Amino acid sequence: MPPLRLKLIAPTRQVSFNDLLEYENGQESLQEYNENVQDRSDYAEEESDVEEIQRPRPSKSGYVDTAQALEYLEAQDNPSRSRKPKATKRYDSESDEDGPAPRRSRRVVPPASEPRRASRRLQSMSQADSEDNDDDDDGFILQSDVLPTRKRKRSLRSASRPINYADDGEDELQYDNSRPRTSRPMGQGVRQSGRSTRHQGDMQDPGVNDIYRSESEPRPVAPPKPVGARESFRDLPRSDPFRARHIQHCDSCQNGTNFAPLIYCQGCVYAYHKSCIGHRGSREHLVTKIGKNDFVLQCRRCVAYPMKKDHTAPDHGRCSDCKEHGSSCVPFRERKTPQQEQKDREENNGEDPICPVPQNLINNPDNVMFRCTACSRGFHFEHMPPKSDSLMDLDSDDVAAQRLQEYSQDWRCKECLDCPGKVGSLVAWKPIDEDNYDPSLGYDRIPEDEKAYLVRWDSKSYFQAAWMPGPWVWGATAGAMRKAFAKRDEARQPKMRTEDAIPEDFLRIDIVLDVKYTSIVDISTEEIDKARIREVDIALVKYKGLGYEDVVWEKPPTPDDVDRWTDFVVAYNDWVLGRYVKQPKPPQLKTRLEKARSLDFAQKLEKKKQPNNITGGELMNYQMEGLNWLYYKWYTHKNAILADEMGLGKTIQIIAFLATLVQDWNCFPFLVVVPNSTCANWRREVKQWAPSLRVVAYFGSKEARDLTYRYELFARDSRELRCHIVVTSYDCAADDSARKFFKSIPWQALIVDEGQRLKSDKSQLYSALASLKAPFKVLLTGTPLQNSARELFNLLQFLDDTFDASQLEEKFQNLDTAKIQELHGIIRPFFLRRTNTFEAIASSLAFNLIWPHDSSCHKPSPHTEPC
Ligand SMILES: [Zn+2]
Ligand SMILES: [Zn+2]
Ligand SMILES: [Zn+2]
Ligand SMILES: [Zn+2]
Repeated sequence: MPPLRLKLIAPTRQVSFNDLLEYENGQESLQEYNENVQDRSDYAEEESDVEEIQRPRPSKSGYVDTAQALEYLEAQDNPSRSRKPKATKRYDSESDEDGPAPRRSRRVVPPASEPRRASRRLQSMSQADSEDNDDDDDGFILQSDVLPTRKRKRSLRSASRPINYADDGEDELQYDNSRPRTSRPMGQGVRQSGRSTRHQGDMQDPGVNDIYRSESEPRPVAPPKPVGARESFRDLPRSDPFRARHIQHCDSCQNGTNFAPLIYCQGCVYAYHKSCIGHRGSREHLVTKIGKNDFVLQCRRCVAYPMKKDHTAPDHGRCSDCKEHGSSCVPFRERKTPQQEQKDREENNGEDPICPVPQNLINNPDNVMFRCTACSRGFHFEHMPPKSDSLMDLDSDDVAAQRLQEYSQDWRCKECLDCPGKVGSLVAWKPIDEDNYDPSLGYDRIPEDEKAYLVRWDSKSYFQAAWMPGPWVWGATAGAMRKAFAKRDEARQPKMRTEDAIPEDFLRIDIVLDVKYTSIVDISTEEIDKARIREVDIALVKYKGLGYEDVVWEKPPTPDDVDRWTDFVVAYNDWVLGRYVKQPKPPQLKTRLEKARSLDFAQKLEKKKQPNNITGGELMNYQMEGLNWLYYKWYTHKNAILADEMGLGKTIQIIAFLATLVQDWNCFPFLVVVPNSTCANWRREVKQWAPSLRVVAYFGSKEARDLTYRYELFARDSRELRCHIVVTSYDCAADDSARKFFKSIPWQALIVDEGQRLKSDKSQLYSALASLKAPFKVLLTGTPLQNSARELFNLLQFLDDTFDASQLEEKFQNLDTAKIQELHGIIRPFFLRRTNTFEAIASSLAFNLIWPHDSSCHKPSPHTEPC
């Protein structure tokens, strides 16, 4: 068995357990240590405003909690209790100023089976370690006859991470469980809070490595402490009306009185353990000495401590309704530095001076304000609204008692109870008193008390956004969210109306990802599903102005909300369409395409008019030419570069071409690779021109792509691609995680917009796209390459792998007339380029304009020129 060792905190060294027990104060030190670790972690918890729980692995620590062993020893002494955790048998009154700190029971932490507890302890230990040990309120000094080893302290500290106990239910559970249990004097307090003790009794059997301690060892004397610095708080009996107004668990650690007696805030319903109110020198709560051995607490919110740190903080010492301060929410004394306090003590025979506080402000139930545990706002009990409208005021004489009864079930204010979830984001703000708003005052200069915020709820659409009072927002949101809002443009000007604050595009449905109906049908076909649009209960939707990150389940708009309803109809029909897209079977498709290519192109294939499934507009003549050129290239198995100048509608020609293949040969799917910023636009263009084609834009963040993949590409666990066209970005196409998906689909054509991006054959995009074996490839480019012949050769190589770019480069290094002609001969078949000449513009605008000169009113045919 390896030696069992206990890590001690400053002054620190490691001693074996046996050695520890040899020490004169070993037993005491051990216990002190256990208590102190807990006390300090409580404090650290309250003080630190942190997000994440990080757990060092306990197995690496190799330390055994000796408290467990002691517990086991005691169990051996008394077998009837051997499976039960127990409280300690000692209780030293807190009022014993010079005595040792209150005794707590020892934790039972089996090292192997409860790794989290062990790790939590390690953390607590390191947290405690990292704090200054100059505070002796807790009477903690662990004696060691060796000098502190700074090195070890540092290594401990490095394992320390911030803890947030409140966010993680499971951890909270663990935390509760690992907490020392405190015995009570006989006949005092039983468990008050449901959460504090829920795991009592699940303690584990001690492990084989447990060790023993003798109860008979003499208790060492605690080290002396400065006289007078100790705070003690009155214990109030359960029947005390002041105590009865309070929450019976600690605002900081959530444990109840079974952990330790609670100290009740004079001004509000909050309560704290002594060990949870923080160090005297740095705490935010205010503790005032009102008599010998008699201290009282005002919580940080009652004395508006947050206002000291942030001038915009609302005064939570005031009632949110009447705006008056709670009677005991005014600080009982001035805050002093530890040095000042020490000086005061020295001048007062070593004791804290007593502050004169009017007796009616102390432990007076009528002074206790309600304070919401979610938003921290305070209310006079009698100024709170009835919790539910159906609740009648039974006894109007004592509204306060009535409200206490109603609200003490969950200690949340009405706004918090009614709000539909967590705050997702702040959208806008406005002054509450709009009439007297002075626009010269900026956002910063208007107190939170006088503002309201438009709040978007987490996982809810903008339809449900609601105006909430500033102090509520201040209490219910993280500081980071408010600070981020203050920096945004939205903060500069108030938005008096919701319509001004929420862009219409945030309310317009772009894509329906899934729906839930109000009814069930046995048969579903595309027509039946489309007809069921009014049976849609809720839909998972992406809004036009928002990304996939903001996809939410929402009720569809009603038909009388005409424009939004129209958007919904379009998106819904597209969703239905997606459910019925059947990919062509490869053998049949092959047969069809062979047949197509056996026909005479000019007679049978060439489009004389635009395809029927292009319904969103009319193609110009030169666009029809472009369509047929692409079609012919496809027909002859020759890849192509469509290099029309910008503005001539390359996108439309591609859409028309793809629509032709779908319509005439049931040939798809197609992959279109475009710049990230134009993905959504491409999708819209396809939807606009060819609504019967199902197009999915697969791009953006991983979250967006996952949603697209799950709901659009392979809807409802389909194994088959549910669309004709996938639009994706370069980034996504070159991404390793998406590559597998792209390679698994038998694409019938690959379109690369801004094809000049493939000018380097060393790029990741080039190799990713070159590895896709599409039978037809088209590059679109509006800016033909001029810089380097090599770039052009790379494009040719991409389109036709019989070319070798480096060979071409070598061959055409020195160009003479003959070589230029030869080069033109090579590249001309690939290119179609029309320039945006006057004629081209004229042709596109001819319907609407009357030309001043007759010269250009003839046939609108853009110049066709070789590259
Ligand atoms: Zn506590
Ligand atoms: Zn308070
Ligand atoms: Zn009030
Ligand atoms: Zn609240």
